[in-house]
Amino acid sequence: MSSRTLNLDDRLYAYLQRVSLREPDVLFRLRKETARLPMAVMQISPEQGQFMAFIIRLMGARRCLEVGAFTGYSALACALALPPDGELVTLDISEEWTAIGRRYWDEAGVSGKVCLQLGPAGESLRRLRREGREGSFDFMFIDADKPGYPDYVEQGFHLLRAGGVIAIDNVLWSGHVADPDVSDPDTMALRNLNAWLHADRRFDLTMIPIGDGLTLLRKRP
Ligand code: CA
Repeated sequence: MSSRTLNLDDRLYAYLQRVSLREPDVLFRLRKETARLPMAVMQISPEQGQFMAFIIRLMGARRCLEVGAFTGYSALACALALPPDGELVTLDISEEWTAIGRRYWDEAGVSGKVCLQLGPAGESLRRLRREGREGSFDFMFIDADKPGYPDYVEQGFHLLRAGGVIAIDNVLWSGHVADPDVSDPDTMALRNLNAWLHADRRFDLTMIPIGDGLTLLRKRP
């Protein structure tokens, strides 16, 4: 027994996956294709995808927003969890990576729920606000360039309904955020973000050591 969060060694991690993952085959194959890419480390873990799908269903979310689609794994996990009339707006800058996702979204029959917008996320988020989407999203996932995170959270705050949730990826950053000897721009951005969010009373907050660390924010009414 332990009153603190466990370290997962390889055996326990394999066990956790074996007794809890229910990854649909289409997600499994997208993950395997992505794993062959040089940027594969940007892929979220399957248990994290399943966790976010759980949150979306728990909330009864219908409108989701994603910053950073990469090859579309998290988008597919979210879209599969949304009801038939649900909507996922996903933002990315890469035509090349998202083209992989599009194939799997088509195959899974969720393309009608997914709206991919290519371009700098900060601009896309501001455009959504201008288009009258403020207060309309239930759930947002941020997994993109780390120095951009504070702006994405701020824009997301306005786009989210009261009670809506923002999930922020990579907040533990392989442990670098806790190492005072590491001060590269990405680490600094995440360290500053974590400190800022801890003090930001506009949100309820929890930080979950799943994947590379996931912060959940709930916009307070
Ligand atoms: Ca990530």
